[in-house]
Amino acid sequence: MNPRKKIIAANWKMNLTSSEVQPYLETFLLEVNHIDGVDVILIPSFTSIPKASELLEKNPKVRLGAQNFSAHDKGAFTGEVSARMLRDLFVRYVLVGHSERRQHFGETDQIVHQKLRMAHRSEFRPILCVGETQEERKAGKAKQVLEHQLKTALADSSPEDFANTIIAYEPIWAIGTGCTATAEQASEMHHFIREMIKSLASKEVAAKIRLIYGGSVTPANACELLKSPDIDGALVGGASLDPRAFAEIVKAGCSAAVEVRS
Ligand code: PEP
Repeated sequence: MNPRKKIIAANWKMNLTSSEVQPYLETFLLEVNHIDGVDVILIPSFTSIPKASELLEKNPKVRLGAQNFSAHDKGAFTGEVSARMLRDLFVRYVLVGHSERRQHFGETDQIVHQKLRMAHRSEFRPILCVGETQEERKAGKAKQVLEHQLKTALADSSPEDFANTIIAYEPIWAIGTGCTATAEQASEMHHFIREMIKSLASKEVAAKIRLIYGGSVTPANACELLKSPDIDGALVGGASLDPRAFAEIVKAGCSAAVEVRS
């Protein structure tokens, strides 16, 4: 029996304003209110977090995440948002090292490491994103790239830190391209990551840690990906902007969880 609960997370990226949160949630919650057995995480932009937080305050079904936060505690960092500020709004999950932050905002492996440490210190559940480019895959270096990203990000992590981390395998060539990894490709990489966690932490942690897949997940491909026992969930970008499409993916996660457990 697989003890790991599936996670379905929506990364809205820089989309949906604060006034669009309520209509979104009304539609989404209506679709999923009978569903149980998956962890649903909503990751809006900073400006939409307060509204989402207010609307979800009494809803244990959907947790809140943030797309980014500062590696610093507080102080003269104009334009930054701290972990404490997010905790105040009931944010419990944070994305760390998303490829768009690495690509467009110069987030190096070192910064990703610092943010992961800050996430752990702040008692967040970080979703650490790792993944290779198309060129790296073609050159046969995908696993090498993942190994480097995981080792630098998770350096000096305690067994508790490991156990608290969710790892999102997000091949860069699949993000926002409509070109999703096959279930076999994703499972192979998840298996590799789990083996790495065995050597970096322990067999017990590796058995518990949740590894989710991200990259052009849609209602059409979610079932196939999620029924793989190696894939513990999905991080969904584009398709999560439509509440009905995101609800379909949550339902796929739920049916897959039942199948994997039985
Ligand atoms: C993402 O941004 O994490 C992502 C997976 O995006 P998309 O689903 O649009 O590929």
